[in-house]
Amino acid sequence: MTSDPIWQPLVEELARRKRAGRKLEFWLRDDDAVDPTPALDRLLKLTGAFAVPVTLAVIPARTDGKLVARLDAAPHAAVAIHGWAHRNHAPEDQKTQELGAHRPREAVLHDLARGLSRITGLHGTRAVPMLVPPWNRIDASLVSDLGSTGFAALSVYGPPKPASLAVINTNVDIMDWHGTRGCRDHGLLVHAIIAQMRHAFDGGEPVGLLTHHLVHDESAWLFLERLFAVTARTEACAWLPIKTLIGRGIERGK
Ligand SMILES: [Zn+2]
Repeated sequence: MTSDPIWQPLVEELARRKRAGRKLEFWLRDDDAVDPTPALDRLLKLTGAFAVPVTLAVIPARTDGKLVARLDAAPHAAVAIHGWAHRNHAPEDQKTQELGAHRPREAVLHDLARGLSRITGLHGTRAVPMLVPPWNRIDASLVSDLGSTGFAALSVYGPPKPASLAVINTNVDIMDWHGTRGCRDHGLLVHAIIAQMRHAFDGGEPVGLLTHHLVHDESAWLFLERLFAVTARTEACAWLPIKTLIGRGIERGK
């Protein structure tokens, strides 16, 4: 455990929940994997050491068998479909989007179908039929077609909107994209996690942590290590594999 005052509120919150006999649930999504890299090795090693299952959102058009070979040695990793090529099709004055309304819907759905087919073909049972839209954005009118395209789940960022398939969103992003472009302040992150834990305890979604291994600074790695040290070795918490959450989401949708 840690005696660091930044982490104390989380340690105390977990102790309270443990007394209540309820497990706090977490899951981890990491985006933009394509190839084996030292940063990916670091992520897989760190999560492996704490037995934390990790869902890698992999870019189908840019990946190949090299990643397959690396992940064969990482049984705690699952692979989701991160769009098709992570290419922006929005005009310059709009937010970046691959899966927006800027192209005919048939073209977008075709990209998604081949993304799913490519990842499943490469990764077999490690692949999960979950779409992670690049930049966490997808045109709302496309969501109803995801099921018939072969997807069982969708994962973006923020509170989930009702949909015809399971929605398993992330809700705590460790990176400060608009400021330092490094890790957010650890104290702020701890409070964001506690807020989401309370929401989950009241029937809301589990804590969905979002990371991007390729751009982590040392502060980001340190944050993950501390978080896992506090949460992954206590009975008060469970880090869930994505297949468990997808199964639950499908069950709920029936
Ligand atoms: Zn991405």
